Amino acid sequence: MKVIVLGGGVVGVTTAYQLQRDGHDVTVVDRQSVVAGETSWGNAGMVAPGHSFVWSSPKAPMILLKSLVQKDQALRFKFSADPKLYTWSWLFLMECNAQKARRNTLLKHRLAAYSQSVLQDVIKTESVSYDRNDRGIIYFHRSQEALDRGVAQMKLLESDGQIIKVLSRNEVVALDPSLTSAKDEIVGAIHCPTDETGDPAKFTRALADIIVSRGATVLTETNIQGLDVAGGQIAGVRTNKGVLKGDAYVLALGSYSPILARQIGIALPIYPVKGYSLTVPIEGHAHAPNVAVVDEHNLVAISRFGDRIRVTATAEFAGYDTTHKPSDFTFMKRVTQELYPDGGNYGRAEMWAGLRPMTPNNLPFFGQKKYPNLFLNTGHGHIGWTMSHGSARITADLIARRTPEIPMEGLLA
Ligand SMILES: Cc1cc2nc3c(=O)[nH]c(=O)nc-3n(C[C@H](O)[C@H](O)[C@H](O)COP(=O)(O)OP(=O)(O)OC[C@H]3O[C@@H](n4cnc5c(N)ncnc54)[C@H](O)[C@@H]3O)c2cc1C
Repeated sequence: MKVIVLGGGVVGVTTAYQLQRDGHDVTVVDRQSVVAGETSWGNAGMVAPGHSFVWSSPKAPMILLKSLVQKDQALRFKFSADPKLYTWSWLFLMECNAQKARRNTLLKHRLAAYSQSVLQDVIKTESVSYDRNDRGIIYFHRSQEALDRGVAQMKLLESDGQIIKVLSRNEVVALDPSLTSAKDEIVGAIHCPTDETGDPAKFTRALADIIVSRGATVLTETNIQGLDVAGGQIAGVRTNKGVLKGDAYVLALGSYSPILARQIGIALPIYPVKGYSLTVPIEGHAHAPNVAVVDEHNLVAISRFGDRIRVTATAEFAGYDTTHKPSDFTFMKRVTQELYPDGGNYGRAEMWAGLRPMTPNNLPFFGQKKYPNLFLNTGHGHIGWTMSHGSARITADLIARRTPEIPMEGLLA
């Protein structure tokens, strides 16, 4: 079949790769000059089944309420005139009970763990260089009470096969001596040794080169304006460069998927949740991180991609605004500098902001929707790099009418 993939983020490109492996003629369409030019560029690069906990937890309503009155660095919710924010927030709040949070977390963990296995299969098959680090991720806490809570919470993922190790302060520093000067701040940690990190944009661009070398087409600087419908099917994609026609279409536009879907009568509850990142050049500094960390107290994630450190933080409801100013980064920079004073050249850090395509239950949308030749693969939220590889395989399976390798109950709308 000729399949057109709408969107060249990590989700679109991994989908195109899997479709090509199945023998399809694939075209990827993206408005940027290069693939992975938006959200898939600046994220923390964590391939983290150990981070599968959904945001829609029983604690979330109170966190949201507090953020309205307190100047909180981690979550910034503010009222806006956008009615979609309120529809989405209502659906999100409906997911915030213990039973649904547990169910959604387990579904997400199933998808994330499967996805990591697909990634490992891809990198065994292909030569993709993306600054991979497979030493796990350290989720550290700054108080005993928080550590105990974290360990208790992790039992849920452990029951689903996640390997966890509880580390004392000394064991954390032994695992990564670059944390030595912050030792007194860290009470202990949960180490997920099978979690990993890698630069998602480097990966996506290398994979795009591979599929192009095998005959796929990647159309960049091509703005998708709408979808033509005829006879109950998608008949073409209208772009600024003309109409593209295929046998099947995959919607993988991240936070922008609902805008296009709405035009053809599909309501997708995906809302953009803004996050910020810094990319710090190491430039010979001796004590850059060797193992990725999540500072669970400050909700700052830090990874190392070769000679760079990537730091991410903040969940902000700001609509489609991706602008940023230096003060947005003050807190995450201070936290990182305190953890790794000799970690890199913080003065030359590159600033970035992007939009997480969040669904109310934190699970992506898959499968056919309204039109038999339109397939969804979108709404991957805060761990879309983690879930992309498995989501791509699932989408290729659904297009081929094959049964996916993991049970899809709860994952197919
Ligand atoms: C601060 C931050 C940290 C994160 N950290 C992690 C992490 O550590 N691990 C993890 O797994 N995930 C992480 N994520 C989440 C992850 O980045 C996303 O889930 C993932 O990148 C989504 O990929 P996507 O391909 O769906 O979306 P995108 O990367 O946004 O791709 C969509 C593409 O569609 C294109 N597009 C949109 N509209 C149009 C149009 N009209 N015409 C043509 N093209 C269009 C865009 O140019 C874009 O390239 C993080 C996100 C943020 C913001």
